Amino acid sequence: MIVATARDFRNWIDGAWREALGRQIERRNPGNGALVSRFRDSTAADVNVAVATAKTAFRTKWSGATGAERSAVLARAADAIRRRAGELAFFEMAESGKPARQARLEIERSSMLWDYAATQARSLTGDSFGQLGATYFAATIREPLGVAAIITPWNFPFLIISQKLPFALAAGCAAVVKPSELTSATTLLLGEILKQAGLPDGVVNIVAGSGATCGDLLLRHPGIDMISFTGSTKVGKHAMRVGADGMKKVSLELGGKNAQIVMADADLDSALDAALHGAFLNAGQSCNQGSRLLLQSSIAAAFTRKFVDHAAQLKVGDTQADGVLLGPIINKEQYEKIIQYIAIGQDEGATLMLGGTYREENGGRFIDPTVFAGVKPHMRIAREEIFGPIVSILEFDTLDEAISLANDSIYGLSAGIWTGNVSAAMTAVRSLNAGTVWINTYLDGPAELPFGGVGESGIGREVGKLGVEEFTDIKTVQIRSGGYSPRWIGSEIGRTDA
Ligand code: NDP
Repeated sequence: MIVATARDFRNWIDGAWREALGRQIERRNPGNGALVSRFRDSTAADVNVAVATAKTAFRTKWSGATGAERSAVLARAADAIRRRAGELAFFEMAESGKPARQARLEIERSSMLWDYAATQARSLTGDSFGQLGATYFAATIREPLGVAAIITPWNFPFLIISQKLPFALAAGCAAVVKPSELTSATTLLLGEILKQAGLPDGVVNIVAGSGATCGDLLLRHPGIDMISFTGSTKVGKHAMRVGADGMKKVSLELGGKNAQIVMADADLDSALDAALHGAFLNAGQSCNQGSRLLLQSSIAAAFTRKFVDHAAQLKVGDTQADGVLLGPIINKEQYEKIIQYIAIGQDEGATLMLGGTYREENGGRFIDPTVFAGVKPHMRIAREEIFGPIVSILEFDTLDEAISLANDSIYGLSAGIWTGNVSAAMTAVRSLNAGTVWINTYLDGPAELPFGGVGESGIGREVGKLGVEEFTDIKTVQIRSGGYSPRWIGSEIGRTDA
């Protein structure tokens, strides 16, 4: 991996770097306090320029481009991302504190999303209606919605912008993008990458800054036609309210409290690997975290023991050190929130099987893998998104019970089940309230497959064919070729005789 040095960034507007007018923001590695990036908060004036630029570029440069032209840009962007993967992985790692290898894999996976969106840019179609009569034909065409405001969270910054932006561009939309102020660097670098790939200036504009100021201004901007937001359910609801006032289309990818169900007849070694990965990837700071582990009673004690033994071996700390798999907690606020949940779990009567320990050292804040067993469905640690390396283990006897437990949540992002029984798997597929159900796997996500949640996990889908369609509207076109036959109002006023 290229080890880049700290860098000053600006907004990316109309194909060039442009200094924003707000206060200076410094981003430091949350694992060791080292300076990584600096940029300025965007003000209303900065957001206005970004939206106006996108509006003009949408009209004059991008909405009329052919699918082939859009596809070529996206394919070149995928290549450019791969060429700059080392630098991107460095900033991804340094701003979020995640392990370098994980950051690298996320950049590679992101490039595949750009590749896939390139194929979709040429495949966007509507329907035709050829059975309406000999002289009457109709069709639907998909048109880009306009300028999309794309707002992304801090935890998988490059992956999440890559789940949205190439799909918006494939559809013919222009965009104003606002990454989290905690992890803005790789999204800002996309400006340079897209220019190298031949995207016309102004089609993508990237504004840095805080959610409460710059993000909010963007949501409210009258020039925005669609809001595509990934983040917490709380801010997602705010985006939806603001979107309603402006009658904008709103697409939301929000929080989760995802259940991983392990049946006694499953391949238990694989289930164990997946449960560990699902629970502790990104130090548990993941929307898809398998934060509720549902174990069939007959295997619960033995599985819990193994899960705890393995989790205890995970090295926690600054990910610059060798062998560290769990990095820091992103900021003080989140660190304190997780610690509070550790206390809540104990107060509620759950059994702390592992962890519950935390520390601030060398400029970072760390929480050890924490496992609660004997968790009951009414407990807050079973119901609320904690967003940290905390797992709640619940037990069940029958599949029906497991499904009721899994569905006992306001969220519905994803769920997984491990079983050797096909009918149990099919029952789970049909019964689980979740946008994604994984059977004997967890956290897979090829670019072809749509992703999104139900309930308070969101509205809409991204990635796959649907990911492009999300950024379009449908226009219905009706054509009569055999002469118009007047309806009753025309007949009443005698126009039929004319
Ligand atoms: P937040 O909701 O705090 O922030 C998300 C984005 O919204 C950030 O860019 C943030 O800016 C911005 N923002 C904050 N307040 C406002 C506002 N008033 N108006 C406009 N924008 C605003 O989420 P986190 O970044 O903390 O991410 C964690 C959450 O995201 C978890 O709940 C997680 O489950 C969810 N998530 C969902 C995913 C999914 O696909 N369903 C994927 C990944 C995460 P800033 O950070 O600069 O304040």
